[in-house]
This record gives sequence, structure tokens and C-alpha cells, in this order.
Amino acid sequence: MTKIDPAAPVLVTGGSGYVASWVVRYLLEDGRTVRATVRDPKKLKGLEHLHALAAEHPGRLTLHRAELMEPNSYTEPMVGCELVIHTASPFLLGKVKNPQKQLVDPALEGTRNVLASANEVGSVKRVVLTSSVVAICGDNVDMVGKDQFTEDDWNTTSTLDHQPYPFSKTVAEREAWKIVKGQDRWDLVTIHPGLVVGPSLTAASKSGTFRTMGSFTDFSLATGAPALQMGVVDVRDVARAHIAAGYTPQAHGRYITNAETMSMLDISRALRARFGWRPAFPLIEAPKPLIKLAAPVAGLTRKFVELNVGYPLKFDNSRTVKDLGIDFRPGAESVGDHFQQMIDDGIVRG
Ligand code: NAP
Repeated sequence: MTKIDPAAPVLVTGGSGYVASWVVRYLLEDGRTVRATVRDPKKLKGLEHLHALAAEHPGRLTLHRAELMEPNSYTEPMVGCELVIHTASPFLLGKVKNPQKQLVDPALEGTRNVLASANEVGSVKRVVLTSSVVAICGDNVDMVGKDQFTEDDWNTTSTLDHQPYPFSKTVAEREAWKIVKGQDRWDLVTIHPGLVVGPSLTAASKSGTFRTMGSFTDFSLATGAPALQMGVVDVRDVARAHIAAGYTPQAHGRYITNAETMSMLDISRALRARFGWRPAFPLIEAPKPLIKLAAPVAGLTRKFVELNVGYPLKFDNSRTVKDLGIDFRPGAESVGDHFQQMIDDGIVRG
């Protein structure tokens, strides 16, 4: 049981990101004082939404410079915080040139650095870490022989060469569980979202979410979608889950934060139902051999297609519903709200 003082400031790492921006906004709306870390607080683009939130909530949001690869970078802004919400980590999909440097180092070293600061700063009582369902399941084929994935499951199949982003999330989370055991002042709760979708407070994020949802606008699926199932969850529900994980004294362990599983075709159907038919929305699933042939053009490996396309996928979200009180929005609503935002932002025609 860990009780966090609601009057103490909360540190949110990667505060300008897609997910973190909603965490920051809801914390402020709940009356909390927030310290958000960003790589460059002086940059002119990409922080407008945080400056607007700071103006709406005078004196309760401050921005602090921190870099995952820099030891002690998070120590000073953490002083006085009881709760740390560590979201910062690169989410890159497709072909990544140097997965060790671009994904694993910032995820793993970054987690080490943030938690070393938590060890140093005596006020910290709880760390909520943004992990992912990809730290639970590496490839959809891993479902074979199971009804669903639960918090007891770990991704044991991803490597630097195969599924490097899932690998980065898995090694970072494992390290966090190892570090927390080395002391008894603060506890750790991990949040495991599926693909996060829904409206964004920032247009500057490089999150893999936008690449995936962009495939419903760039005609890459127009002739047929891969029969690929994925966990889908609304960004607003993910943000609420982080906050509930922080302030619910009995929250503990891992929480699968996923609304439902949708295939690419399910997403297309949901978009068609709300926006009508558009040429970029796929009407059919393409045969697996064809997807495999075209995989490199789409930045995928043939091994990824082999081990993921055509397999069912299911996650048990009952712990999150019960312990954190999250009433998940249906995936169709979230993907629709995401697409609506692309229309509002002028990315696609209305
Ligand atoms: P995002 O918008 O790209 O946010 C990532 C954040 O990490 C950004 O604020 C980024 O800062 C920061 N960051 C990256 N490298 C850094 C470094 N070297 N030093 C300091 N900060 C660094 O992506 P997101 O989708 O919101 O992801 C947030 C978290 O959710 C990540 O841990 C991700 O793995 C997890 N997650 C996301 C999804 C999803 O579908 N989106 C699903 C499951 C889990 P800059 O703005 O300066 O680049």
C-alpha cells in the first residue's frame, strides 16, 4: 500500500509525447502540480500544447530539461516528487537503422538513469513505468496453445534483429523490476498498452502510432490489408490508467491496458462506418504470400509477416478494469476519433 500525497508534485518524463501529454493534462485537471521533462524546453516547435496547459493552470506545470542517456539528468526535477511517471522511450516502427542506439540504449539506459535518480531522491514513493503489451507478447504466433495473454506472460522471443522495439521495451521493463528489488522505499507499477490511438494534443510526436494510423490514409493498404491482429486502446484511457496506477494505494505489478484486439480490416470497417468509403480504406485482406513478398517495401521483415500475420491475439485486461477502474472506450470509437483529428489537422480531406 503506497499512499501518494496529492499535493506533492508529480514528475512525468517525456512530457511532450503523445501519451504523456494526456497524462500531464489530466493530472493538471485533477488539481496536481506537474513537472514535465523534455529534451529541450527552449525549442520553439512541439511544446506549444504544454505552454498552453501551463497558461491554463498557472503555477502548476513546469518544464525541465532531461535526456535519457544522461546520468543524473532526472535527479533535480525529481526532488520533492512522491510519484514519477516514466513514459519517455522511443517508439519507432519499421526499418530502424541502428536498433541498439535508437531503441535499446535510450529505453534501457534511460530506465536505469531514471530509477537511479529515484534511488537518490528520498521523496519518491512510487514509479509508474510505461511498458507495453509487446513486453508481454513478442509475435502473435506466441498465442498458439493459449486462450489469451495475461500479466504473467513475458516476451521471450524478440531480439535486436527481430522485433527491436518490443525487445527494447522488454529489456527496459525487466531492468526496472530488477532495480526496484534493490531497495524498499519506492514501488513500481507498469502499464502495458496495446497500440495507442485517439486524438493527439501535439502534432510533433514521432510515435509509431501515427505511422500505423497513417497507413489508412497513404493508400498502402488500398489493395488489401494484412490479416494482422493488434491490441488497440484509447490514449485518454491509457493516460487515466497511468494516473490511477499512481494514486491507487493498492495498485501493484503489471497492468494490461488494452481495450480490445482489432485487425487492420476491423479498423478499416470502423473507419468506413463513420467516414464512408474512401479509396485508402482496405476492403479485403490480402493473401499472406503476397504480404510476405511485399514486406520489405513496407519496412517489414518476411519473418515478421510469417510469425504475426494470420494469427489470433487476445489480452486479458481485467486487472486494469478491476484495480484501476478503467472503463475502456471501444476501439472503433478511438480509431474514429483519431481519424477525425487527422481531418481536423488537415492531414486528410474531410
Ligand atoms: P512519443 O510521442 O514519441 O513519446 C516518446 C517520448 O519519449 C517523447 O517525449 C520523446 O521526446 C521522449 N524521448 C525519446 N527519446 C528520448 C531521449 N533520448 N531522452 C529523453 N526523452 C526521449 O511516443 P508515445 O507513443 O507517446 O510513447 C510514449 C511511451 O508509451 C513509450 O514508452 C512507448 O514505448 C509507450 N507505448 C506507446 C504505445 C503507442 O501505441 N503509442 C503503445 C504501448 C506503449 P521528444 O519529444 O524530444 O522526442
